[in-house]
Amino acid sequence: MQHTKSKMEKSALVFIIVLAGTFWATADNTTETAATSKSSISETTTFESTTSETTTNGRITPTATPGLKSTGSWAPTRPSRAAKKEEDKQKGKLEMGCPPLGLESLRVDDTQIQASSFQRFGLGPHRGRLNVQSGIEDGDLYDGAWCADYKDQHQWLEVDGRHLTRFTGVILQGRNTIWRRDWVTSYKVQLSNDSISWKGSMNGTLEAIFEGNADGESPVLALLPVPMVARYIRINPQSWYPDGDICLRAEILGCRLDEPKQSFSSAQGAEPKDNLDFRHHNYQEMRKLMKSVTEECPDITRIYTIGKSYMGLKLYVMEISDNPGKHELGEPEFRYVANMHGNEVLGRELVLNLMQYLCREYKRGNQRVVRLVTETRIHLLPSMNPDGYEVAYNKGSELAGWGEGRYTFEGIDLNHNFPDLNTILWDAQEAAEDPSKVPNHYVPIPEYYTKEDAMVASETRAVISWMQDIPFVLSANLHGGEMVVTYPYDGTENWAPQANTPTPDNSFFRWLATVYASTNRALANPERRLCHHDDFQVYNNIINGGAWHHVPGSMNDFSYLHTNCFEVTVELSCDKYPHASELPGEWENNKESLLLYMEQVHRGLKGVVRDKESKKGIEDAVIRVEDHEHDIRSAADGDYWRLLNPGDYKIVAWAEGYFPAVRHCRVGMEPRATICDFTLTQTPVKRLKEIRAKGGKIPQDLQLRLRALRLRKLRASTKAINQRREGQRMQREQARKARSSSSSSTL
Ligand SMILES: [Zn+2]
Repeated sequence: MQHTKSKMEKSALVFIIVLAGTFWATADNTTETAATSKSSISETTTFESTTSETTTNGRITPTATPGLKSTGSWAPTRPSRAAKKEEDKQKGKLEMGCPPLGLESLRVDDTQIQASSFQRFGLGPHRGRLNVQSGIEDGDLYDGAWCADYKDQHQWLEVDGRHLTRFTGVILQGRNTIWRRDWVTSYKVQLSNDSISWKGSMNGTLEAIFEGNADGESPVLALLPVPMVARYIRINPQSWYPDGDICLRAEILGCRLDEPKQSFSSAQGAEPKDNLDFRHHNYQEMRKLMKSVTEECPDITRIYTIGKSYMGLKLYVMEISDNPGKHELGEPEFRYVANMHGNEVLGRELVLNLMQYLCREYKRGNQRVVRLVTETRIHLLPSMNPDGYEVAYNKGSELAGWGEGRYTFEGIDLNHNFPDLNTILWDAQEAAEDPSKVPNHYVPIPEYYTKEDAMVASETRAVISWMQDIPFVLSANLHGGEMVVTYPYDGTENWAPQANTPTPDNSFFRWLATVYASTNRALANPERRLCHHDDFQVYNNIINGGAWHHVPGSMNDFSYLHTNCFEVTVELSCDKYPHASELPGEWENNKESLLLYMEQVHRGLKGVVRDKESKKGIEDAVIRVEDHEHDIRSAADGDYWRLLNPGDYKIVAWAEGYFPAVRHCRVGMEPRATICDFTLTQTPVKRLKEIRAKGGKIPQDLQLRLRALRLRKLRASTKAINQRREGQRMQREQARKARSSSSSSTL
């Protein structure tokens, strides 16, 4: 339905808008009940003050409307030259204005979105959500936008705010597709209280025309010249890419009026009980927060760095343990890694929340947390890709789009950057006469990978070093953009695009994934809608990585094949970069899962492998579980951890120069590892004695030697790269200083 154009004088307009605001805020007595009567006065006040802020001498200030064009012209115009400045300005305004209604986060459900027409179900109004991703092929049920069935100016996408809402802006994006060019280049916005009579968003005396998209992916923000109070809002395309269709994805910015403090509560009906620092932290702020945690809890925390990003930002780790800085015999080590993809930011904030929470609850004497901290050495890496994060952060939660900031500064996808040990192992097994004789664990890094010119990111190098330095037992890798927990392998055999590729520890990995997925309030919600096009609820929200899609060189697979550490990937939310107002709710959604998952490090068997004579622990002893084609090794002090589901197991332990020892050990249902120690007797090997007599080293097996050698090479090349980069950085810095001093002298 079209509105009539206003013919009012400019001077009268503001007054009318204020009146209209009053009317619109109070007139809806059919669907809004008690909420309106009492609060409408203050709401009107809010409205008036907002209005007066954006006006000068009765005239709407043009600078207050980025993305706004003068009426009459439908030709698309590009953003101003000072793009970066404009970006910052937009972001600033976005943060100060109202939060997203939740088209992207799915807080707005399908029934709240209507359209004038649509081409087919897969392009229906429910697909008109910011950052929604299309299925593998166009033309299925899950296409990448809402697309109108007609190409005229009477098409609209309508969102029902369900409550009186102060609408402040619209974010528009084109269609997600690699085959077509479908986007809207300009549009109008109309508002209504009953979805029957509509009023246009005005710019002076004329209906405002907003600048839309110039490509399919970049989100473009437009603020309404004057915020308007209503229940329904319509996006009404006026022009579009010449050969394309009218297609769009959108987010609406609005504050619900009957719930004044809504922005920091009840995002998903979850009330935050913990008073944590719920906001997005850039590099500086993250450092500050981590420092404040160590000041609050000096006895159980320690910050250390494992390396640097390409741009020289440090990869900080927070250690939480009753004896920070030190491995304790028998105490398992755990890690969370977040923000590997720089624009997947929820994990980063959850990990920062977690360190604050553990510190405070430990001090408060929360028995569960005290036990966890006392019995576990916890390592938290909130950001594996701080360079990428800064790129996404500078755009902000709604304007970063889907891809910006994912990669490292060099353009490397870190989750494809680990060496593909799967293929090395499978090839060796295939070539072997007896595949069971091929070492099934601690697979060394291939030679090419250790070279200086190998395409291996600084961030990956840092993490590999870290993985070998600490005897991690369990880990999770926190991502975003979907809602599912995936378990290894991520890489498929023969690089099939999709194939269920289980590890020998499949049942325990499924348990681990289930622990997280079934206790996460958002994931486990049976009412939840699928994020984009994959329905993981039919698999109880867990899936084998390879069965989802082939990822060669993933961190999970590397962790499992190169070290003792089991790792799963958690895709935390549909939205990669949730608005800050979602963070308290997301903490509540994830808190129990984060804690319970860490507690799984205490399952299965653990023990110490000792020399019978000296009683000393034996490093690198092999622990083999019968019928499990994946061995693990003991750590430096001879202690080991073997994650297993409940059951009876036959375990064999041996080490170079020792006779194997066999024990039968039972893993119970309770979340407490069964102690299964071994004492090994040395073999009377003459050669060994000879070597000993000469004061030489005990020979390690070839695989171990190779593994240690390659890591040394990798570290050497990393060091060379870092020195070169540091030199270049200093040169640049000197050049910059020279330039600035010469330019200042000419001034
Ligand atoms: Zn990711």
